[in-house]
Amino acid sequence: MDFDGRFTEEWMRRFATSVSATERELTAFDQQAGDGDFGANLRTGTGCVVAALDRLPPGRRTADGPLRAAATAFLDEVGGTSGPLFGLVLQELAVAVGPGLTAATLATGVTEGLAAVQRVGEAQPGDKTLVDALDPAARALRGLAPDVRPDEALAVAADAAFAGVRGTMSQRARRGRASYLGERASGVPDPGALGVGVLFASAGRHLTGLAEFLRER
Ligand code: ADP
Ligand code: MG
Repeated sequence: MDFDGRFTEEWMRRFATSVSATERELTAFDQQAGDGDFGANLRTGTGCVVAALDRLPPGRRTADGPLRAAATAFLDEVGGTSGPLFGLVLQELAVAVGPGLTAATLATGVTEGLAAVQRVGEAQPGDKTLVDALDPAARALRGLAPDVRPDEALAVAADAAFAGVRGTMSQRARRGRASYLGERASGVPDPGALGVGVLFASAGRHLTGLAEFLRER
């Protein structure tokens, strides 16, 4: 398999399909832990991503092109808190992956994405935000040997992100709208963190539901 622009384009298109299939679940969690618009915000974002990918010129492209198109779509066209934050993660991924998609450039991209999200949103690990999925994913990627295939690295990132998501179920939100709910959101996973897990897992397959990722393994 070549890890070029075709791989990242298929990844972004699968992300969109996974979001369509899980939007109802994401919405339900944001109704319990936020204001209920996260699923719709993410769906708007991935819809704009697909439209942007459809506008890319045909032919061979480098791995960063589709990631950059996805970043621009989220940054320019999606509202809510999460839209720009997903845009920043995708933008840092595109910058890091520029010379080639490898386990090492993915590790750099996710680490820089996390840093950008924290610069803007000031959330710390444990605040019950998407930082709680990005931080473990970045750590897991940094721990990989450089010769690990990028698709395997993304599967490792997904597992780490979903482990972080399960951790958010017992956390009390200290950022974003969920922080107004206090104990009422306990037991509920953070929707944004789930979205990060969906992003990484979609590199390998279409997701059809979230239940399997929320069970302790
Ligand atoms: P809004 O709160 O504006 O309705 P969304 O519903 O689009 O935003 O996104 C909610 C998600 O955004 C949360 O589940 C959380 O993961 C993430 N989020 C909120 N505030 C922050 C923050 N300060 N830093 C990182 N992520 C955050
Ligand atoms: Mg919301």
